[in-house]
Amino acid sequence: MTVHNAKCWLVCGWAFAFGIRMKSLLVVLGVALAMSTFANAQSEKITKVKTDQPYVALTFDDGPNGENMAAMMKILADNEAKATFFLIGKNVVKEPELAAKVHEQGHEIGNHTMTHPHLTKLPAEEVDGQIAETQKVIAEATGVTPIIFRAPYLDQNNEVLTVVEQYGMPYAIGSSISVRDWQKDVTTEKIYERAAKGQAGDVILMHSWSVHTREALPRIIETLRSKGLQFVTVSELLAARTDQ
Ligand SMILES: [Zn+2]
Repeated sequence: MTVHNAKCWLVCGWAFAFGIRMKSLLVVLGVALAMSTFANAQSEKITKVKTDQPYVALTFDDGPNGENMAAMMKILADNEAKATFFLIGKNVVKEPELAAKVHEQGHEIGNHTMTHPHLTKLPAEEVDGQIAETQKVIAEATGVTPIIFRAPYLDQNNEVLTVVEQYGMPYAIGSSISVRDWQKDVTTEKIYERAAKGQAGDVILMHSWSVHTREALPRIIETLRSKGLQFVTVSELLAARTDQ
C-alpha cells in the first residue's frame, strides 16, 4: 500500500463512518421532532375571533343551573338567539334533562370540567379524569360530545391544554368580554353595559346561575342585534374565522 492509498483509505473510512453517523443523527432528530410534535399537540387558546361576519358568541358557564338557566334559555328561544353553554359534569349528572334541552334548542355545549377545580393545581391524572369524565357524562345526557373546552377560572397551562386536545377538543375558549357577573356588588345595569360593548368576533363570558345576567339578557340581545350583530355558537363563530 502506497502512502497515497493509505491516506485515501483513511479519508474514505472517515467519510463513510461520518456519513452513517450523520444518517443516524438525522433519524434521531426526526424521531425526536415527531415525538415532540405529538407530545405538544395542544388545544388552541381562543379569545376574540377575527371574522368578516357580523357574528358574536354569547357564552354561559357553570350550568345546568335549574330555573335561572331554564329562564335564560326561554329568553334565547323567544329571541331566536343561539348561545354556548359550558357545562359542569357534576351539574349535568344532577340535571340531565336541562343539559339535553341545551342541545335540543340548538345551542352548543362545551366541557367545563366535573367539579370546577383550579386545573393547574391538580396532578396530571386528576386533570385527565376531570376532562375525560365530563366528556362522558355530557355525551350520555345529551348525545353530543363537546369539541370546545373552557377552563374554570380560565386557569390553564400547556399540560392542561395537551390533555384537553387528547379528548377531542382542539379549542380552549377564553373570552374577549367578561360581564363579571360574579362580582359582589355587580348590578344588572353594569352587566348590560359591559355586554352591550360587543362587536363582531367577540366571545362574551357570562354565568347561567346569575340572576342579574338573566335580567340583563333581553336588553343585551336587543342592543347587540340593533348593531347588526347575529348570535351564533362558538363553533359557528370559529368556522367564520378569517385568520386561518
Ligand atoms: Zn366556571
